[in-house]
Amino acid sequence: MDNKTIAAVATPNAPGGIGIVRISGERAIEIAAKIFVPVSGKNLTESKGYQAHFGNVYDNNEKIDEAVCLVFRAPRSYTGEDTAEISCHGGLYVTKRVLRAALDAGAMPAEAGEFTKRAFLNGKIDLAAAESVMALIGASGKQAAAAALNTLDGNLSREIRGVAQSIVSICASLAAWVDYPDEDIEDTSAQDMLPVFENAKKEISDIIRRYDCGRALTDGIDAVIVGRPNVGKSTLMNMLTGFERSIVTNIAGTTRDVVEEKIVLGEIIMRVADTAGIRETENVVENIGVNLAKRRLERAELVLAVFDGSEPLNADDLDIINYCKTKRAIALLNKSDLPLSADRKIITDAFSHTVELSASTGEGRNELEKAVSEICSTSEFDPNSACLTSERQRQCCVNALGSIEEAIAAINSGVTLDAVNVCADCAIDALLELTGEKATSAVVDEVFSRFCVGK
Ligand code: GDP
Repeated sequence: MDNKTIAAVATPNAPGGIGIVRISGERAIEIAAKIFVPVSGKNLTESKGYQAHFGNVYDNNEKIDEAVCLVFRAPRSYTGEDTAEISCHGGLYVTKRVLRAALDAGAMPAEAGEFTKRAFLNGKIDLAAAESVMALIGASGKQAAAAALNTLDGNLSREIRGVAQSIVSICASLAAWVDYPDEDIEDTSAQDMLPVFENAKKEISDIIRRYDCGRALTDGIDAVIVGRPNVGKSTLMNMLTGFERSIVTNIAGTTRDVVEEKIVLGEIIMRVADTAGIRETENVVENIGVNLAKRRLERAELVLAVFDGSEPLNADDLDIINYCKTKRAIALLNKSDLPLSADRKIITDAFSHTVELSASTGEGRNELEKAVSEICSTSEFDPNSACLTSERQRQCCVNALGSIEEAIAAINSGVTLDAVNVCADCAIDALLELTGEKATSAVVDEVFSRFCVGK
């Protein structure tokens, strides 16, 4: 990495009370000193770390703002480099002007995630912790934020390293055996290794399971609303989002395409698609919507199947009940404000969860929230345990688990120990890719490309 000094606005690009311009790198304090003059008369370049200075920001001798400049000295800063953070007045104009002054004074514009990438490259945090910074920024609920903070604290990496270390220690004796098979090295008994791999398998499976339980809280899940026309899907969508988003009419087939919204139900994030009524139709435009709905339904992780409780179930409803049999689905018996005419038992027999609600009055929303939480097992999610915060980390765990299972199978089938050694190596690589110790630069670049500028 070249050591150019970088600068960016670290606060959102929107009007606000305070805007922060962050400068990091070898020349950070020198550059800050060119544009910021403390009222105390001290020179910023002589400042120690962890000092705050009140003063004025200048652009070519023109005073542009009053500000506070925080000075951090390497390695005691977020990036591990010398860093100056100028907290000026928020707002689109002032912060941009301060940034421009810093760039004119010799800093380079920071790329997306470059501050955190430097923290990673300077050994301040590992890759899993860096990803949790993004998860923390993006968290939309208490549980998700707690889980991200926990990973940022290093709990995940500690647990992953512990598992990797347990495999490394048996590999050391394996490697000696593989390299010098003729020497009389104390025979590493395959049966001695089995408990280590079994234990590693359990720990990694637990971590994956916890992530899957928590995904509705951290990443959100793809949900879909289905039901024959006029059961109240659009009204339900509007109730959940709080907006008049879908067109509500009482003419069957009004909703013609798939409308997707991100909604937060309690702590759970759902990307909900309201689909055109699934039914055969002659109308070409409507048919496009029907096909889109079917495709969206195929990949949905949760189906909200809506029925009109005020009318008897018809053949279309029964088709939908059938369609949901292989899905993780919740039945919503809508229009609970009207007398019940639908055969409730047919529905409750077919679905693990049935919620009676009225999309137009909002009654039943809490019950729906409870059902979603139960069906997604979010109640099992413990943000205080080591939590994965990205699909990348999950994939590393899945790969490690696959190799661990192969090692166990190899031991059980009595194949030579070098096969076990290869599997163990692959498992270690996957685990160390998660923490970043063995991640390729392509993986690292990919992780940081998803960050925002200024972080
Ligand atoms: P969609 O075709 O499934 O999207 O159904 P809509 O949301 O367009 O609703 C069809 C009709 O049912 C509209 O007249 C809604 O006002 C009405 N409706 C929807 N939900 C309820 C409800 O909970 N109670 C009552 N009484 N009417 C509802």
